[in-house]
Amino acid sequence: MEKRRLGQTDMVVTRIGLGTIPIIKESKWRAVRIIHKALDLGINFIDTARAYEDSEEKIGEVMKTRRSECFLASKSHFRTASETTEALETSLRNLQTDYLDLYMLHDISAQDRWDLVFAPNGAFEAVKKAQQQGKIRYIGVSGHNVPMLMDLARMGEFSVILTCYNFMTLEPEYELIPLAQSKGVGVLVMKPNVGGVAFRLIRPGKDGQEPQPSDIKPRDTLRFVLSNPGVDCALVGPKRVGEMVENYRFANRFEPMDETERQKFIESGQSLFPKMPLCQDCGYCEPCPAGIPIAKLMVLYQNLCRLFFEWPRSRKEYHKLQPDVAACTDCGACEERCPQKLNIRERLRNAKKRLDHPV
Ligand code: SF4
Ligand code: SF4
Repeated sequence: MEKRRLGQTDMVVTRIGLGTIPIIKESKWRAVRIIHKALDLGINFIDTARAYEDSEEKIGEVMKTRRSECFLASKSHFRTASETTEALETSLRNLQTDYLDLYMLHDISAQDRWDLVFAPNGAFEAVKKAQQQGKIRYIGVSGHNVPMLMDLARMGEFSVILTCYNFMTLEPEYELIPLAQSKGVGVLVMKPNVGGVAFRLIRPGKDGQEPQPSDIKPRDTLRFVLSNPGVDCALVGPKRVGEMVENYRFANRFEPMDETERQKFIESGQSLFPKMPLCQDCGYCEPCPAGIPIAKLMVLYQNLCRLFFEWPRSRKEYHKLQPDVAACTDCGACEERCPQKLNIRERLRNAKKRLDHPV
């Protein structure tokens, strides 16, 4: 597979890397098989985060024998120096390694987070110190706020940025990715396939015809992202070994889209959901203090809006998700954390209204 130098680092990475949010939900046995398969295929970049529950431990199971075969990245969502130092030590222990190739400040998407991490005794001090100690080789930053990521890329302190970019989330391609390229900052992309939701939507029927399931294919979503010459590596998050192999095949033999193809593909995506900003199943809105499984409910509701023929199944699913939306205390914490700025509380209330009926 084609490889790219990640910005001005010495990391020459495959065009796809392994993203590991989805393995949180998988058994250890299945997760370990996926990671081994990625390495067997020659994929040489693995990304995780302290916030991805047990994903680090699952990766650690493989790293104890195959550490030298990949570049390994993790992130800290903590904002103070002491918490970040502790998080890094935990990550190193979980990952069964004594250094990380890349360590990122996780989700710097709001001014208050920026202020905290760069304040005296903030997270940035801790990562600089860890770099001097040889525990991390390069420092990066991830976020969903494109203007803020541009400011972070301009600072000259970060070797790599991690941004959300796909055929439905185009903002990074206008200025952020070219800026990063011009500054020698490596570009990693999360959610190249829109968190998988693009494949579960419907295409509205024309002239009174029945709506049709989405005709968007994973190979096209990945091809779209990799066609951008400023993208060094797109993180794919397979839930099965077969998906890992599929992604590898797409990336291994992809041909870049020309501008006409790109525009056609963007238009085709836009017509899938003309009015509804999309939940990307990232889970940043959680944990909910009332324990509500927000992301699962958001995706369920979204699918309901798009896939009306799934109503009976959606109702069954809704009743399995506990606690019920009625437990919501209206605190608003989920909406503050949602990078897509979705009106979560309203959607959850609508989900309840439409789904909380006997099956
Ligand atoms: S507003 Fe409701 S759903 Fe959102 S975090 Fe608060 S309790 Fe949970
Ligand atoms: S509601 Fe927002 S934060 Fe929660 S999963 Fe969806 S996009 Fe992510």
